[in-house]
Amino acid sequence: MQNQCERLLIIAQKLIATGLNKGTAGNASVRCQENGHDGFLVTPSGMAVEDMNAASMVKMQFDGSYEAGKIPSSEWRFHRDILASRADINAIIHTHSMFATTLACLHKDIPPFHYMIAVVGGDTIRCAPYALFGSQALSDNALAALSDRKACLLANHGMIALGRDLDDALAVTIEAENLCEQYWRAMQIGEPNILSEAEMREVFQQFKGYGKWAVS
Ligand code: 13P
Ligand code: ZN
Repeated sequence: MQNQCERLLIIAQKLIATGLNKGTAGNASVRCQENGHDGFLVTPSGMAVEDMNAASMVKMQFDGSYEAGKIPSSEWRFHRDILASRADINAIIHTHSMFATTLACLHKDIPPFHYMIAVVGGDTIRCAPYALFGSQALSDNALAALSDRKACLLANHGMIALGRDLDDALAVTIEAENLCEQYWRAMQIGEPNILSEAEMREVFQQFKGYGKWAVS
């Protein structure tokens, strides 16, 4: 059976293999309560995924302390703050994926132009205001944009997706990127029709008990 470090490495590799991340962009984390560690694991900073192995993953505590001899992702603050404040969330993925980042550069919230937006937990994907990468301000902005949501855009930067485990976070990442691409494409040829509040209420109702996306 794989341990948490191996599972986190596999997710980092999948983000590159699927083209959601390129180079050293992006990072991921998972809550960890294995072997007496009550904190989280996060990918290392500035390292290409092909150079990572399971031992590269950095063990962190919620007070911001981490394993000696390793450098955690520069975005450990938002990973820490999201995990600390969201009991429903155990894994976080951050990408600079093409379409999410394109829309984030326009500081655009994604409206309910497609019913699948419900999988992020609400009827919009919000765009958090710009703040410097790695800063506490970025974490604060992201946390606000993620209120009642499992994904948000980060202005002039990328996106964050959340999950109850790493596979769920990856599924949300893929769907959020897909929605951003569809929205971008629709805007090339017209003004997308936006679903009404009543139509979205029906969607949430329909999603209750719908496979892996079951919304409670
Ligand atoms: P790290 O390599 O430090 O995780 O940084 C990548 C990134 O996406 C910063 O926002
Ligand atoms: Zn980033």
